[in-house]
Amino acid sequence: MAHRRLLSAIVVVGLAVAGAAAQQQRPRIPPTGTIKKVRDSLYVIPGAGGNTTVFVTQGGVVLVDTKLPNNGEAILNQVRTVTDKPVSTIINTHSHPDHIGSNEYFPASVEVVAHENTRKWMAANPRVASNPVAMPDRTFTDRMTLGSGDDRIELYYFGAGHTNGDAFIVFPARRAMAAGDLFAWKMAPLIDPMAGGSVLALPGTLEKAVKGIPNVDTVIDAAKAGMGQKTAEEIAAGLRPKFPVFTKEELLTDMEYGGTPWSRAVINVNVAFQELRKR
Ligand SMILES: [Zn+2]
Repeated sequence: MAHRRLLSAIVVVGLAVAGAAAQQQRPRIPPTGTIKKVRDSLYVIPGAGGNTTVFVTQGGVVLVDTKLPNNGEAILNQVRTVTDKPVSTIINTHSHPDHIGSNEYFPASVEVVAHENTRKWMAANPRVASNPVAMPDRTFTDRMTLGSGDDRIELYYFGAGHTNGDAFIVFPARRAMAAGDLFAWKMAPLIDPMAGGSVLALPGTLEKAVKGIPNVDTVIDAAKAGMGQKTAEEIAAGLRPKFPVFTKEELLTDMEYGGTPWSRAVINVNVAFQELRKR
């Protein structure tokens, strides 16, 4: 338990430091943005927390993630600019409030799909659990297929990473993938140990994903930090030549609230130290 408390203290301190740095630059979470086309029938709506992926199928519109609470109408308004079809399905990549927050806006007839661990976290969250419409109707453990032909969607789970319920959502006919917060920004991954996330498990999870998911053009880069007698800063600095984008000290436009890539890298090395000490 002491380890657990220490770990959360370090993460909180890390986030507080990142938050303080960001505050000087007036951090803000941008509102729901304008829908952008990614591929045929596949779009992304940025802003208000996690991106929302929009996949227009024969049977209706599939949404991947629903942003922070109170963004349902804004999401639907963006969808309406590309199709009149009703929303038929919501897939949640994981349990964080900026990915499930507006599930409840959509009617009960919309099927909500998530990994079984994500459902457990949602069931433990009184705000979500008190609203059955927001809860997953269907869950999966390792693999699930939705739809067929051009509309086929493959859901994969390969283990803990950002949380312990991260789903990879693949659109095979579009050669595209939504990876939730496993690859949230062009920064090292954000790990939430209090939601089952793990730095130590993450490289293995991503490796399985790279081997196990065929035909995705854009693949995830993962930084494997070497562990030793060095400080977190020294280890992160050692990663710099190889991963300049993931270790730079400038805030990212519209992502100021996430801290700098450098602060993220140092926090993750510290989380890894804590996980290793627990072994
Ligand atoms: Zn998240």
